[in-house]
Amino acid sequence: MCGIVGYIGTQQAAPLLLEGLTRLEHRGYDSAGVAVLGSGLRVAKKAGRVRDLSAELPKRFSGKVGIGHTRWATHGPANDVNAHPHVDATGDVAVVHNGIIDNAAALRERLTDEGVELASDTDTEVLAHLIARSTADTLEERVAEALAAIEGTYGVAVLHADFPDRIVVARNGSPLIIGVGEKEMHVASDLGALVRYTTTVAHLDDGEMATVTATGFTTYRQDLTQVQRAATEVDVDPASYDAGEHESFMRKEMLEQPAAAERVLRGRLDERFGTAHLGGLNMDARETREIRRVKILGCGSAYYVGQMGASLIEELARIPADAEAASEFRYRNPIIEHDTLYVAVSQSGETIDTLLAVQEIRRKGGRVVGLVNVVGSAIARECDGGIYLHAGPEVAVASTKALTNMFLGFALLALQLGRVRDLSISEGKRLIEALIALPAQLQEVLDGEDRLAEIATGLAQAESLFFVGRVRGFPVAREGAQKFKEISYRHAEAYQTSELKHGPLALISPEVPTVAIVPEDELTDRNVGALHEIAARRGPLVVVTHPDVDLRGLDVQRIDVPRSARELDPILLTIPLQLLAFHAAQVLGHDIDKPRNLAKSVTVE
Ligand code: GLU
Repeated sequence: MCGIVGYIGTQQAAPLLLEGLTRLEHRGYDSAGVAVLGSGLRVAKKAGRVRDLSAELPKRFSGKVGIGHTRWATHGPANDVNAHPHVDATGDVAVVHNGIIDNAAALRERLTDEGVELASDTDTEVLAHLIARSTADTLEERVAEALAAIEGTYGVAVLHADFPDRIVVARNGSPLIIGVGEKEMHVASDLGALVRYTTTVAHLDDGEMATVTATGFTTYRQDLTQVQRAATEVDVDPASYDAGEHESFMRKEMLEQPAAAERVLRGRLDERFGTAHLGGLNMDARETREIRRVKILGCGSAYYVGQMGASLIEELARIPADAEAASEFRYRNPIIEHDTLYVAVSQSGETIDTLLAVQEIRRKGGRVVGLVNVVGSAIARECDGGIYLHAGPEVAVASTKALTNMFLGFALLALQLGRVRDLSISEGKRLIEALIALPAQLQEVLDGEDRLAEIATGLAQAESLFFVGRVRGFPVAREGAQKFKEISYRHAEAYQTSELKHGPLALISPEVPTVAIVPEDELTDRNVGALHEIAARRGPLVVVTHPDVDLRGLDVQRIDVPRSARELDPILLTIPLQLLAFHAAQVLGHDIDKPRNLAKSVTVE
């Protein structure tokens, strides 16, 4: 969601900024723009794609310092005027901004009363005017003064024609990274925008600012007192931000799942004691034993995988556990208990709803651990401990490998919680064996892609579908429906299979297919019974199941996945649903990595 890039150095800025912006495209955006400081400050911005902006960029757009932005509109429609950068009346100040200024309406009114003409509908524009109106000596003081007047969240980058040797940046709730190069410096809201140029980076913390010049950077708090931030080498392979020979990131990331799964398990399985080692939790055995309840918080797919995680924890550790949408949690004045373990789940570690939930829990003295993919991200830093997912960069909006590793992170957590309580060593070993076998089983499911593509072609024709499952299978159905909606834009609804006849059965018809999750477990017979009820109403059926399940003569499209330990089955049942959504979206000709209206990391509330 929204992106910032900046460059200052020896090369022409515009091409580098545009290149950086294309690297941020997957995050979701509706317009893009750049500002470059050469003989004067020039701005080009446009609704639509970065390539539309590139196509229209004037030839002589020269200058060796500049900033760029991809906007995800929150204040005012996506049009050329509302796109960033925003400038003041003289055109000397340019600002790009991620986030939301909460008191924008009041500030707009104040500026208008003072005779300022606002060009756009955005909250961001006020910042450009506030900076321009400051009479302080330095740009840093002017920016700090403007930021002191605003309430809300931001990552910002500022250019000023009178201070052509610098970019001033600030962060509050929205990430900002500085990349150190040879006689040049980069600025970005996401590592992916700058790893091609440098892997030496510094992260700003909330409430911090920095001055970036061609030869270095200095960091300070917003009251302009110094704070030391050293740049460090990040261990990423720039190639992992390229789709390579794959037609989309989503497909590449789905196929990476077996390798990613191995990474999250590596070094964390203790075969001798049948348990898991999660040093990052920062809890000893006694503290772990004292946990009486687990509350999992996430948004979207991270919420659904949290439901899968809750059942893993209940089954293996026999601790009451549930998952809740982090976006709702904070608003019901939640009761925080000292013996509850809170788990925040987020791929990016920047999901604002989850971050705010974490802050609410910590403010009330609760203990939170994070299941996060991006190392050093805001949620990872806010939590008391955590489990890094090691999935590698995930670029596609629809989460696949990060989701699988979240599930495995929960499996490890459940195992560790179980083994300090009543889970026996032999049960622990059974789980470990199953975990070790899992990467190869993931591969087996992925190998069935051709058949799944065929089934997806049929499903893509339906305007509306059901995804159903029970108990362990229900979050699988929810996640399957979510993926299908996100990228195929078909109406897909998840239900507990048991709830069908309490209402939705009325909608079953030859036009409305059902994708049913039917694992081999204590509910198989009942599940198969429900499928017969659907078939009797001529509802087409796709059944994701295990090889030994007898469907009692039903005429269905059957997808068999290998059996794991029963507690781990949900993740293998989830993989075919990713492939169904992917191929349906492909048949329908959608932009799979950048689904409409959606963003990769949701950094606004
Ligand atoms: N609130 C700003 C706007 O609507 C920035 C949105 C964003 O983060 O892209 O322009």
